[in-house]
Amino acid sequence: MRKILKGLHQFQTNYFSSHREMFEQLAMGQHPRILFITCSDSRIDPNLITQTEPGELFIIRNAGNIIPPYGATNGGEGATIEYAIKALGIRDIIVCGHSHCGAIKGLLQLDNLTEEMPLVRDWLKYAEGTRQLLKENYKGYEGEDLLTVAIEENVLTQIDNLRTYPIIHAKLYSGQLNIHAWVYKIETGGVYVYSAERCSIQAEHHEVDIDEFEAAVPSPPILDGKITSSLPLLETMTLPDMARKSSSSTYDLSVGFSSHE
Ligand SMILES: [Zn+2]
Repeated sequence: MRKILKGLHQFQTNYFSSHREMFEQLAMGQHPRILFITCSDSRIDPNLITQTEPGELFIIRNAGNIIPPYGATNGGEGATIEYAIKALGIRDIIVCGHSHCGAIKGLLQLDNLTEEMPLVRDWLKYAEGTRQLLKENYKGYEGEDLLTVAIEENVLTQIDNLRTYPIIHAKLYSGQLNIHAWVYKIETGGVYVYSAERCSIQAEHHEVDIDEFEAAVPSPPILDGKITSSLPLLETMTLPDMARKSSSSTYDLSVGFSSHE
């Protein structure tokens, strides 16, 4: 606690003083452009990994970056999503999973949680779609490989859940909303981006100037509720073709997550 209090003091005397104007501006109102949904894990810092300032990201965090389907709970997630879209007019949502996710490890061994952490066990029912999908489609996977695909598939499952919200459904339909699926790798700082739109692109390593790229290739609108991304794809990985071929018409399943490091 001593470290926290020392940090608070340093923030007030150093950072705040040198950014006073920004904070005074923020006091007048917020205009974040991104709803960032990620895990509570202490190793993820949304502002750090995206190099954004206070006021730029509207954030939902919980164990496992989970979004209960519409009507399933009266929890804060739904209210926060509604506020983000309706009151703040946010048009981009990032659902960001991460490597070594404890919640997803728990999902892979639910029985162990029943006694020790019944609330976590209960919460993970909103990721049951991920668990079933893995059981059906990833029979040969185990250990780290299973955990990796579970983390990636869970991001897509939670996007399916997100799409059950009427406001999300409506905005996707009219092309006013983009949903991005990310997985952040703690050990490399890399972000893997799932793109349903770029399935024909051969992934390869090359440096891309993001500003240039976005100017040249505007983020395509979402049609039929496909998820997309405006980030360049640098490396294809995991999520083998079989994954979602039969599970949903929402995604083009011939692509995997791609790296943006
Ligand atoms: Zn996690």
